[in-house]
Amino acid sequence: MNAPLAAMAAALDVQLSVPVTAIEATAQGWQVRAGEPIWQARQLVLAIPAPQAAALIPVAHPMQAAAENIPMSPCWAVMLSSEHAINLPFAGAFMNDGAISWLAHNSSKPDRTGQHWLLHASVAWSQAHLEDSADEVIALLIQEFNRLLARWGQAEPHWQHAGAHRWRFAQGSSTQAVVQSAETGLVLAGDWLAGGRIEGAYLSGIDAANALLAVTAGQQSNQS
Ligand SMILES: Cc1cc2nc3c(=O)[nH]c(=O)nc-3n(C[C@H](O)[C@H](O)[C@H](O)COP(=O)(O)OP(=O)(O)OC[C@H]3O[C@@H](n4cnc5c(N)ncnc54)[C@H](O)[C@@H]3O)c2cc1C
Repeated sequence: MNAPLAAMAAALDVQLSVPVTAIEATAQGWQVRAGEPIWQARQLVLAIPAPQAAALIPVAHPMQAAAENIPMSPCWAVMLSSEHAINLPFAGAFMNDGAISWLAHNSSKPDRTGQHWLLHASVAWSQAHLEDSADEVIALLIQEFNRLLARWGQAEPHWQHAGAHRWRFAQGSSTQAVVQSAETGLVLAGDWLAGGRIEGAYLSGIDAANALLAVTAGQQSNQS
């Protein structure tokens, strides 16, 4: 999933696996701390889920409350691999009730092999089972998927592999693509600001870049 971004960032100085622990407003912009390393920046983009942004932004800053007031919902995601093909007449389905809200035949995507299925649990189910172990969640969602497959006339598959991901901040409720405070050089971005999923992250990132470029252009025209 992140291969296109890795290619786009190949020529940039990117530091990975460095958790930022604090950000502070300074006269020149922002100071970013990650333990020992400290960076100075005129402008700052926080492209992380709203609750994590709220924990970093200083309480006195107006965007702290904005980030804190955006609720986000969780989603348990389970990937299953079966030994044999499951012949459903669709590659993906939204479910309107029950534990599973979305299921997809991942191997139907271009250049994929094998028999891999992705299940997303509904918000209500994910909230109710948020602190369950991955093994408990896998067992329950396999039970539910097997029940659906039986309803669609499929024999119970032999599941060879299963993995679960507790996606704690999966969906946000904001419809703005970016939240910014141009005068303090701080911009929030992320999929949660534009409907979730990778398209939302992309659109929000474009808006964040445009917001920063507009501030820079304004500063340059004030100087000339
Ligand atoms: C299991 C799973 C399956 C998915 N499947 C699909 C799919 O099939 N199709 C689709 O469109 N979308 C899918 N998504 C959603 C997609 O991955 C997201 O929409 C997208 O990654 C959001 O991008 P983002 O830049 O907003 O945030 P993220 O990709 O979440 O990036 C935020 C980054 O910030 C880091 N971070 C957080 N706090 C700090 C800190 N204090 N310091 C430093 N770094 C920090 C995080 O570790 C993370 O790497 C899936 C997500 C999951 C979890």
